[in-house]
Amino acid sequence: MDCDIEIGDDMHYEGTCIRPPSEAYSILLQVTLGCSHNKCTFCSAYKEKRFAIKEDRIILSDILFASKYMKQQNRVFLMDGDALIIPQKRLMWILDRIREHLPWVKRVGAYANTKSIRMKTPEQLVALKNNGLGILYMGVETGDDEILKKVRKGTTAENIVRMGRKVRDAGIKLSVTVLLGIAGREGSLRHARLTGEVLSAIGPNYVGALTVMFQNDTPLYKDYCNGKFELLAEKEILPELREMLAHTHLNRGLFFSNHASNYLPIRARLPRGKQEALDLIDSAINGEVGLRPEWMRGL
Ligand code: SF4
Repeated sequence: MDCDIEIGDDMHYEGTCIRPPSEAYSILLQVTLGCSHNKCTFCSAYKEKRFAIKEDRIILSDILFASKYMKQQNRVFLMDGDALIIPQKRLMWILDRIREHLPWVKRVGAYANTKSIRMKTPEQLVALKNNGLGILYMGVETGDDEILKKVRKGTTAENIVRMGRKVRDAGIKLSVTVLLGIAGREGSLRHARLTGEVLSAIGPNYVGALTVMFQNDTPLYKDYCNGKFELLAEKEILPELREMLAHTHLNRGLFFSNHASNYLPIRARLPRGKQEALDLIDSAINGEVGLRPEWMRGL
C-alpha cells in the first residue's frame, strides 16, 4: 500500500486539534475525528465533529509527511478524542507504519476512555505497548458516582479504577486529569475525597488537575445560567484541591495543577513532595501566596 501514497503539502488536520500540554512538541498525527463519547456536559472540545476513524491512506500520507519534515520530534501523539478506540488490527497497523517510517520516535501517546480501554484485552494492550504505545491519557474528572452521572461521563468510579489499573498492568504509562469545581459547592469536599481515593486505587504516573471553566455552548454552562450549577470561587477551589491531594496516596507519581485553568500551580512528586504541596496550598488559603488572576486563566 505504501508505494501508492504520495506525501501531501501538509498534514491533513481537520477541525479543532487538541493534545495534552505534555505533547506540545510531539508529532500530532490525527487518526480519528472527534470523540466517540462526546456527551460530557462540561466539554465542548469536539462538538462540531462527528466521530470517525480517518482513512488509512490519509494517515499514511501524514506519517510520510512527518518522516520528511519532522525528524527532530521523537514523540507522536495520536489525535483526536480517543484513538485507542480504533480496532486492534488497524491500530497495530498505524503503530507499525510509525515504526517503519519514523524510526527515531521513542513514544506514541493517545487519549483513552474507559470504553476504549474495556474494548481491548490485556494481551492487546501489551501488544500495543510492545509496538510503541507508551502513554495513555484518561479523563477521570471525579471519583464521585453521583457527579459522574450528572456530567454524563458514561462510566462509574469502579470502572475508572478497573480500566486505569488495566492500562498500568499492561506496562503503559497513565496520565489522568481531574476536574476541580465540578461538584459545585455542596459536593466539593466529597468529590475531593472520593477522587483522591480513586487516584490512590489506580496509581497513575501523572495526575493533572484542571479547574472548571465555562465554554458557552456546554450543557454545564446552561445549568449555571439556570441556577442548577454553582461555580466555585478561587478561595473555595483551594480547600478542594487540598482535600484531594491529602486523600491521594501514590507510591510514585506526579500530581500537578499547572494547567492554565488553575488558580494555584503546584507540582508535587508523591509521596515525598506531598507535605510541601499541602503547605503551599495552606499558605494560599491564608492569603500568603498570590493566585493566578482571573484574566490569565484559560483552557
Ligand atoms: S471530556 Fe473527553 S470523553 Fe468527555 S466528551 Fe470531552 S473528549 Fe469526550
